[in-house]
Amino acid sequence: MNPTLTDAFGRGIEYLRLSVTDRCDLRCFYCMPEGFKDFETPAHWLTFDEIERVIGAFGRLGVRRVRITGGEPLVRKGLGELTARLGQLPGIDDLSLSTNAVQLARHARVLRQGGVQRLNVSLDTLDAERFAQITGGGKLHKVIDGLMAAKAEGFFPIKINMVAMKGVNDDEFEAMFEFCRQHGFTLRFIETMPMGSTGRSAQGQYLSLQTVKERLTQRYALVPAVMDGGGPARYMKLADSEMRIGFITPMSQHFCDTCNRVRLSVDGTLYMCLGQEHNYPLRELLRSGISDAELEQHIIKAVNLKPERHEFGDKPEQSIRFMSMTGG
Ligand code: SAM
Ligand code: SF4
Repeated sequence: MNPTLTDAFGRGIEYLRLSVTDRCDLRCFYCMPEGFKDFETPAHWLTFDEIERVIGAFGRLGVRRVRITGGEPLVRKGLGELTARLGQLPGIDDLSLSTNAVQLARHARVLRQGGVQRLNVSLDTLDAERFAQITGGGKLHKVIDGLMAAKAEGFFPIKINMVAMKGVNDDEFEAMFEFCRQHGFTLRFIETMPMGSTGRSAQGQYLSLQTVKERLTQRYALVPAVMDGGGPARYMKLADSEMRIGFITPMSQHFCDTCNRVRLSVDGTLYMCLGQEHNYPLRELLRSGISDAELEQHIIKAVNLKPERHEFGDKPEQSIRFMSMTGG
């Protein structure tokens, strides 16, 4: 089905990012401040029934891809039940998950059975000490166990998202490449974005992926490639294998003119853009007893608010939300 949701700039919206929590069991320094506790109160979390209702409405409006994210989605209790419910909604034919994989080993089976096909796992380093530094004390072996469990359960593709940072992990791109090649994972590099105070201070470690691409192209025989997934990454592949690497370049080469997504945060607010404040709160409307038809009209109105582009480059101070709040 073609998307019936179109924004004021003619972009079709067919992708929803659903944040099921703003909490996390890690504290990546570019994402969440150390000791941060100012989380959304549980009474404001959309319930599973409310989430199912909103996603159902998006499905009727032509959205067919839903990515579950957070915060760390695996800290939300009953996620397996939610994914199974969402996987059965008419129109939703692509259910995927973004996770730090710390708790993935024990959730992998139920998520796979619940219809999650594709996984994105954040992993910035293969060095245990460095991992602990980046993530505020995380244990690398748990992530590796989670990845191996996911591989054994048959998730495909599994994409490793690595935030490329000067002086932090820029000596590890080739090692991560080899790790991904060995396990059949896709490697994607991400540029740091000035989301919230944490993201802004991480701009000191910003590395343009144009440089990373040049470095890897000199070392490996890479050719342009495509990869299904609905996202903004630009891909290359090894000439003699299926190994793919993607580059997500919100800063050096923004992709706003093809942006096809909106985000639903745990408190039921629709955010139209990662870098802008345009939003549409749905929670109170849902709790006031609106009909499904009214809900669809509100979603259409919300999508119309989508701004033309982010302004990370020109006005970085304007992005006040941390990535974990909106659902990266
Ligand atoms: N907790 C899950 C995870 O880490 O994959 C899902 C949510 S996390 C907010 C989603 C993605 O946002 C991760 O890949 C993370 O690396 C990325 N991220 C967070 N803050 C960022 C920033 N300031 N710049 C670029 N990427 C960021
Ligand atoms: Fe947590 Fe993901 Fe943010 Fe790291 S990037 S602090 S794992 S939400």
